[in-house]
Amino acid sequence: MTRMYDIIVDKRNGKELTREQICWFVNGFTKGDIPDYQVSAWLMAVYFRGMTDLETAWLTEAMADSGDRIDLSAISGVKVDKHSTGGVGDKTTLIIGPVVAACGVPVAKMSGRGLGHTGGTIDKLEAITGYRTELSREDFFRIVGEVGISVIGQSGSIAPADKKLYALRDVTGTVENISLIASSIMSKKIASGADAILLDVKTGSGAFMETLEDSLKLAEAMVAIGENVGRKTIALVTDMDEPLGNAVGNALEVAEAVEVLSGGGPEDLRTVCIELAADMLLLAGKATVADDCRHMAAKALADGSALDTFVRMAEAHGGDVRLLRDPGSFPEAPLIMPVRAETAGFVASMDTMAIGNASAILGAGRLRVGDAVDHRAGLVLRKKIGDWVDVGDTLAELHTDDEGKGREGGHLVEKAIRISEQKPAPPMLIRARVTSTGCEVYR
Ligand code: URA
Repeated sequence: MTRMYDIIVDKRNGKELTREQICWFVNGFTKGDIPDYQVSAWLMAVYFRGMTDLETAWLTEAMADSGDRIDLSAISGVKVDKHSTGGVGDKTTLIIGPVVAACGVPVAKMSGRGLGHTGGTIDKLEAITGYRTELSREDFFRIVGEVGISVIGQSGSIAPADKKLYALRDVTGTVENISLIASSIMSKKIASGADAILLDVKTGSGAFMETLEDSLKLAEAMVAIGENVGRKTIALVTDMDEPLGNAVGNALEVAEAVEVLSGGGPEDLRTVCIELAADMLLLAGKATVADDCRHMAAKALADGSALDTFVRMAEAHGGDVRLLRDPGSFPEAPLIMPVRAETAGFVASMDTMAIGNASAILGAGRLRVGDAVDHRAGLVLRKKIGDWVDVGDTLAELHTDDEGKGREGGHLVEKAIRISEQKPAPPMLIRARVTSTGCEVYR
């Protein structure tokens, strides 16, 4: 007879668990048959002993099987999903989704909301007045069929085992384990039904993984899971030592995404988007050479087809597309307060997590699941790493509805931006690329 006690002891002693043991316990835990105290003990044993690649893949599959698995087979073509581990100013989904859809790759995507210092795609889309992020499965599939892309909120019935396990990890000091993080993320991606997965693992001061070494480990663990469960997976490790682009906050980010979709926008954001989109096109088999995929992505931005796709998706979801045709018309926060430089020099580094937290304080983010967000709130960086500033220059503009929030956010931003006499090296946007055949680190 299988007993949770033996599974805990096996893991405590460093044994590799069997697939049957893992499935049995995930099943029992999801149904409420295994108490939290035993699962907590198991999590701590995993924290110290780790899991093999195979155990991690079995855990992922068991969690993916714990709820609904979305069947995308009715949509023809190779469906490629994309996941970012979370960052500040990361509006890439709003851009690369329409880019790859405009290149003929169907995108049926479920996204999440922001929490803490990181934003979420669903909050950003809801900044487009009227955009519905909850749709019936029929409408979701219909829009993918008609427009090529639909982005909706993640259904509560996806990987419920992960939801329960994450809540326990959160209170037992066991979140920070690569196998547990990797299986948590991948279980939701696998249950969401795509044939192939592109991962954007952020690294740096605003990322979940601050060091390149840890980000690489996470990227490698997730690519190994993808391969072990039969989904082609590529991971790019990308820079989060400063916010991506200039805008942080929901409506501000949608307006910036429209700039990039219109062929302009900040260079760092555009470059990262082209690289990510190129790998999605590669995974979808649109070309076999990375450069050809980059050209396809750049063309979709230059010829307006990606913007047109984004507008049509928003319209199909009930969104007020006048805002997208004229992004200057998004409702503005009542207060716009500058943060000014107190010393002259080069912007040398940023505490990106603090900038994300400042944006949340201004009203753009939430401290707890379920908190409301102010879509107008956030900040716009006027200087980025490597820029020269004179005393009194505006470093950032804060958008908020309250002077107190503005002062608190401004104080955080001021402290987060370090100015030095030394000109820093420009940030390297793409730090590494991990595929099933190996890992390339760019220096
Ligand atoms: N995001 C997830 O979905 N799971 C983790 O464990 C960490 C980050």
